[in-house]
Amino acid sequence: MYQDTQLFIGGEWRPSLSGRVIEVVNPATGEVIGKVAHAGIEDLDQALAAAERGFETWRAVSAFDRYTIMRRAAEILRSRAEDVARLMTLEQGKPFAESKGETLGAADTIDWFAEEARRAYGRVVPARREGVYQLVVKEPVGPCAAFTPWNFPLNQVVRKLSGALAAGCSIIVKAPEETPASPAELIRAFEEAGVPAGVIGLVYGDPAEISSYLIPHPVIRKISFTGSTPVGKKLAALAGEHMKRATMELGGHAPAIVFEDADVARASSLLAMSKFRNAGQVCVSPTRFLVQEGVYEEFVDRFTAAAAGVKVGDGLAEGTTMGPLANDRRVAAMEALVADATEKGAQLRTGGRRIGNKGYFFEPTVLTDVPMNARAMNEEPFGPFAMIAPFKDIEAALTEANRLPYGLASYAFTGSAATATRLGSGIESGMVTINHLGLALPEIPFGGIKDSGYGSEGGTEAMEAYLNTKLVTQAGF
Ligand code: NAD
Repeated sequence: MYQDTQLFIGGEWRPSLSGRVIEVVNPATGEVIGKVAHAGIEDLDQALAAAERGFETWRAVSAFDRYTIMRRAAEILRSRAEDVARLMTLEQGKPFAESKGETLGAADTIDWFAEEARRAYGRVVPARREGVYQLVVKEPVGPCAAFTPWNFPLNQVVRKLSGALAAGCSIIVKAPEETPASPAELIRAFEEAGVPAGVIGLVYGDPAEISSYLIPHPVIRKISFTGSTPVGKKLAALAGEHMKRATMELGGHAPAIVFEDADVARASSLLAMSKFRNAGQVCVSPTRFLVQEGVYEEFVDRFTAAAAGVKVGDGLAEGTTMGPLANDRRVAAMEALVADATEKGAQLRTGGRRIGNKGYFFEPTVLTDVPMNARAMNEEPFGPFAMIAPFKDIEAALTEANRLPYGLASYAFTGSAATATRLGSGIESGMVTINHLGLALPEIPFGGIKDSGYGSEGGTEAMEAYLNTKLVTQAGF
């Protein structure tokens, strides 16, 4: 059922020139299920040469034809959603329904960017002198390099890939070694839809080796990275040194603020659903639950019950609502964060332990009374890990929400329009979602501020990231 994954370079699927491979593990069993080709520098050189040629080909394809090809890729992906989702669950662990939702969501993202390809409008600026035309035109930035992580194997690739292709760029994707097969199927859909050879490259290998070779390389004009803040800072520095445009979608530590005038039952059930989706391995996952004093106990009880009711198991098993963590590193990280918090005085309300001795399962975990100096209050837990704390008034809630250097997502529930308005402007984050879970649609911006990075992977801003603005000013003879 699970196939080995090859590199895709110059329109061909092939092993690496050295023949090196990396093993792929099913996180539900800990067993090796396949292999992925490990690209070396010679493979990267070929991918770069192909991307350079691919850019010349693709930029000459009309926006309308790019749209047609991309729409076809979306249809192909949709028609294979069940198969792609099965691969994703086998290699990443998330429940099959989440994998299928991600695959269908990826198809919707392609559609949206395909349509946007036809709207990369420039403008005409009125001139100061008769006979002068001032044209502002949008041009593709050139060959791009994308580095994507394992938590959303398709979604992280499709946003970068679709934006680049819609704009007329070629792109080399360094997809995740832990979850290689499902993103390879995404690339295959584009290949079969008619994207010319060289426009898309797909490589796997040593992430640090690949990024340190591709980012400074003169062929690459723009990079996009999704991953942790420490790695993002290194890559952004390298991009800066070589004057490459960059989009950085980094870590978060999202506050979720619940006020006394909110529908607490609804807030706790929506937030628990959001927290344990993809086992909490989500950059926008709510992490610090700040609850107003009057409803604090009620929220803790409801949320803890919801966490304890999560059905953890193999993502392919019927009824599973949370799969294993994606790899052993995450289990070790959860254990260390729980131990650190409880040693410093936190109360464990539920969870906190590894489940079984096979695969990378961890209990949905809820803590209260976590001191400010606990590591988890300051570092992104990136797992099924929730901390709940009471607050007195909106000032205190905003102070805590804005305490950390992160600024990606934030959540709030309130029955007051005045409070909602205050939060909308007062929370320092790239995204604020109030009284519902409203993030991550292709047509709306998706990105952070502060240490969570810069740039957007949704909305018209995401297309802009792959376009240069050029002025052409022309006087009549
Ligand atoms: P990690 O920081 O080593 O890797 C995170 C991702 O960055 C991986 O996909 C990895 O391949 C890539 N990466 C690492 N070093 C790189 C480099 N020098 N050049 C290019 N890519 C590089 O850690 P990990 O154990 O895989 O993940 C743990 C942490 O990563 C989490 O705690 C979380 O903060 C972060 N993460 C964030 C996202 C996100 O969606 N923002 C996704 C996955 C992981």
